[in-house]
Amino acid sequence: MSNSPARILDGKALAARIREGLKKEVAKLAAEGCPPGLAVILVGEDPASQVYVRNKQRACEELGIRSWKHHLPADTSQKDLVQLVEEINADPAVHGILVQLPLPAHIQTEAVLDTIDPAKDVDGFHPVNLGLLAAGRPGVVPCTPAGVMELVKESGVEVAGKECVIVGRSNIVGKPLAFLFLHEHGTVTICHSRTRNLAEVCRRADILVVAVGRAGLVNGEMIKPGAVVIDVGINRTAEGKLTGDVDFASAVQQAGTITPVPGGVGPMTIAMLMKNTVAAARRAMQQLD
Ligand code: NDP
Repeated sequence: MSNSPARILDGKALAARIREGLKKEVAKLAAEGCPPGLAVILVGEDPASQVYVRNKQRACEELGIRSWKHHLPADTSQKDLVQLVEEINADPAVHGILVQLPLPAHIQTEAVLDTIDPAKDVDGFHPVNLGLLAAGRPGVVPCTPAGVMELVKESGVEVAGKECVIVGRSNIVGKPLAFLFLHEHGTVTICHSRTRNLAEVCRRADILVVAVGRAGLVNGEMIKPGAVVIDVGINRTAEGKLTGDVDFASAVQQAGTITPVPGGVGPMTIAMLMKNTVAAARRAMQQLD
């Protein structure tokens, strides 16, 4: 079946519109005496992490969100890191805490993330927030899955009753996203490294999300004509260019709507982080009332 090339979903433009709306909310909160604040903790010198942290801080600046960067040496002990998180938990000026991952190997990531006050867990990685999400109760929704859902909404395709296939089952993308689709009444399938016949399962999808970290894992032959395809993957080519998990050239001929990499999910993740920070500040203020 031949198809006209897919509509390309511009995550950069959508994220800019969301940030524009948030700017007003930030100004309002500041005028009410509660300017939103985000603390970012970076441990070590991982270059990709440094870029991510810089981008997040830039987004804060643009919106008028106060931000603090705690850059700790790679040999920081788990005890010291946990203590820093506890100190920030107690700081009323900070509404969101973000620990940039990955942490150095000698630190147990879960022990650190579990220390973050769930109300300030703007990444939505704390088990309390993941539990609330699983139960369909209000909590903090992880940024990348939230961004994916905004992009799906932007595609104009309704989730209810649709076959939603997610490739990748990580705690930060695949699993939480499955709950979001389920809450919107999608029929959800999660694939992973042990999935048999990945191509066949992907071809069932009306909405296909790929979050693995392997360039070109999904190609046009694995896509149902007209499907919505959201590419979460971030990979670097030998020439140093960013590319997703979906082979864009073949996929764009089959899909109905597709996100590019870069310029798709990435900017949405940061916009959702800003949204979670503003929401955390709003909640903190309401508790003072
Ligand atoms: P993880 O490495 O934690 O998870 C990868 C998942 O892919 C695992 O569930 C794994 O299966 C599965 N997988 C591996 N190989 C295959 C295969 N051949 N077929 C099917 N499934 C496979 O990655 P993350 O979820 O953290 O990230 C995924 C990608 O998304 C990365 O490229 C990352 O950089 C990117 N990312 C992008 C963000 C953005 O803002 N754009 C934000 C977060 C991540 P198993 O569980 O069996 O090992």
